[in-house]
Amino acid sequence: MPTVAKERVANRRTLVRMATSRRTLAVAAGQARSTSRSPLDAPAQYVKGVGPARAEQLARLGLHTVEDLLYHVPHRYEDRSHLASIASLVPGQRQATQGVVLALSEKRRGTYQFVAALSDETGVLQAIWYGQRYLRRVIRRGSRLIVYGKVERAGRLQMMVEEFETLTGDDDDTLHTGRIVPMHPATEGLSPRVLRTIIAQTLSQHLDGVSDLLPDAVRSRLDVPPIREALRAIHFPTSLAEAEAAHRRLAFDELLILQLGVLGRRQTLQTVDKEVRYAGDGALLQRFVGSLPYELTRAQHRVLAEITADLRRRAPMNRLLQGDVGSGKTVVAAAALWLCVGGGFQGALMAPTEILAGQHYLTFRRLLTPLGVRVGLVIGGAARRERERMRDLLRAGEVEVAIGTHALLEEGVAFARLGLVVVDEQHKFGVTQRAALRHKGFHPDVLVMTATPIPRTLSLTLYGDLDVSVLDEMPPGRGMVRTYVRGPGKRPEVYAWVREQANGGRQAYVVCPLIEESDKLQVEAAVRLADRLSQEALRGVPLSVLHGRMRPEEKEQVMESFRSGAVKVLVATPVIEVGIDVPQATIMVIEDADRFGLAQLHQLRGRIGRGAQTSHCVLLSSLATDAARTRMETMAQTQDGFVIAQRDLQLRGPGEILGTRQHGLPDLRVADLITDVAVLELARDEAHRLLLEDPDLSQREHAALAREVRRRFAQETTLAVG
Ligand code: ADP
Ligand code: MG
Repeated sequence: MPTVAKERVANRRTLVRMATSRRTLAVAAGQARSTSRSPLDAPAQYVKGVGPARAEQLARLGLHTVEDLLYHVPHRYEDRSHLASIASLVPGQRQATQGVVLALSEKRRGTYQFVAALSDETGVLQAIWYGQRYLRRVIRRGSRLIVYGKVERAGRLQMMVEEFETLTGDDDDTLHTGRIVPMHPATEGLSPRVLRTIIAQTLSQHLDGVSDLLPDAVRSRLDVPPIREALRAIHFPTSLAEAEAAHRRLAFDELLILQLGVLGRRQTLQTVDKEVRYAGDGALLQRFVGSLPYELTRAQHRVLAEITADLRRRAPMNRLLQGDVGSGKTVVAAAALWLCVGGGFQGALMAPTEILAGQHYLTFRRLLTPLGVRVGLVIGGAARRERERMRDLLRAGEVEVAIGTHALLEEGVAFARLGLVVVDEQHKFGVTQRAALRHKGFHPDVLVMTATPIPRTLSLTLYGDLDVSVLDEMPPGRGMVRTYVRGPGKRPEVYAWVREQANGGRQAYVVCPLIEESDKLQVEAAVRLADRLSQEALRGVPLSVLHGRMRPEEKEQVMESFRSGAVKVLVATPVIEVGIDVPQATIMVIEDADRFGLAQLHQLRGRIGRGAQTSHCVLLSSLATDAARTRMETMAQTQDGFVIAQRDLQLRGPGEILGTRQHGLPDLRVADLITDVAVLELARDEAHRLLLEDPDLSQREHAALAREVRRRFAQETTLAVG
């Protein structure tokens, strides 16, 4: 009998787990507390058969309440529904059969064995259990049993029993055999069998207390089963089709709540009346565009038109700008800030590292100072007096554009009239950080930028409350990037080549191995590598080291000498992953490349290939694991950020890629953002329809939905809105 494969992607459950558990949420959210009382909030111990010890084991699986148990859905099913007759059992296979116990015996020497001779009208089977002495008290002569396990022939026909069940005759409802059996995610000391029993008990005690969130009209239009029916069927389906339908229903509920929450927030934002930040006739933008040393791409023009329209609206802009590394997001941000300043407001741009902030500062000064805009740099490492001065200027409105790191978020940093907030590499920041910057203004316009291309399902979910602009075109004149994967044995050869290239005037990055555990070790690794290279393989080549622990002026000095071409080789920690832009650097060597994730490699490699010349990227990797091999192959095959992101998603699952803090959305217990795309789209359409009909979900038939949205979104946590 086949074991039914219905394995779902394992990451489903961890995907959108919040930094705070739902438990703390319910307590934290005062408003939600009064509305969230329900019989399903009862502790798991209210279920018959769950004592303190079991409750503790359940807690380890994150199962605290009756509701948690009801929504602890199987990760797969085993089809044990077909009961073979004893004569038709096939040795070597795992099968289920049933029969009446004719005789019992025990073997006490060696490992304890309990044997029941079962018979049906076709034959006799020796059912064997190991080490389970209690069976004596459970299985009697004359009992009718269903057994499931591996069939063997050792003279007699026998079975190593994995699951069994005693049939009582009057009610032949089985749990563990003779049906499609759910396999719930289990843990040590809490086997699938025990969980199954507990969940069956939970259903029989509490299913009646579950009320349907969906109005009947919606439910029948979408043709999904009622909630109680779905909960029963997801745990104990009579067919796989039934389980599938149940999954669809439960996933739909979950995604609908998510979409209602996200779209609801978006809707709320639309009612805000900010001041209009830019009312000019286009001449201002023309002036900026005319001052650039290059033509904007069509994509840049399009995105700027979208942003301009947002600035002219009364509701605050809340926009995500997505564009692959090197697509030219910075100049778009500069244009937006220019318009904001032109409208009489201040702007701020926050970047994740001092190096990147420093670079942006130079870029913005170059772009905006000639137009009369006063640009300031706000970083933690600055001298105290300078910091105070900058704060005064910002407060007085004399510095119009502040470029900085999270130092911008410090309490002492205040703006006279902050109108636009730009967050670069937004995935590097948490929800609260983005929100903190936003709160420095009065409903400022918000533009968040990322190079991480997000598959449609995820963007619908995570960025549902944002408008999305995409830069899908690279500026012209970019050279190719060739990528090579080389084993450690080839290191000398690789560096001999780097040396030759550097002597010929080309510039290279060498990225040292990633050490996630410690910042300090990471810095040491870079310094050591730089020392070794400058003494050996790259002796005589002008070389500098760059890492996160250097003082800002040191970093700036190093970057400047690399930019000017005085330094040919820059040995760096992975801090250069984000944003660094030195177009004439055309070579990159990444040490121990397999320690990096795909997204990180893509970002790193994005530092080269920015000029007209062909660039070269060497990935040094021992290819020790299959996963490493796959990643390196992907990098060698494609330069397309979207393809790489898709691949990353397949390899790691969405949870890891997006991190957990970033989006702060409720936990998904059933839905799988990779496989449930169709359900997600359905849920989104339905959420739109509902909000159109009843914008604040105040109609009576929507009360349950509204309550659930409030409960699940108790904590104000959103990407940019915060
Ligand atoms: P990213 O989107 O990765 O942040 P950047 O904004 O750093 O990319 O841009 C990468 C490089 O492309 C920069 O050197 C920038 O000056 C240049 N660039 C941007 N737009 C254009 C354009 N339209 N034409 C030519 N070069 C451009
Ligand atoms: Mg950038």
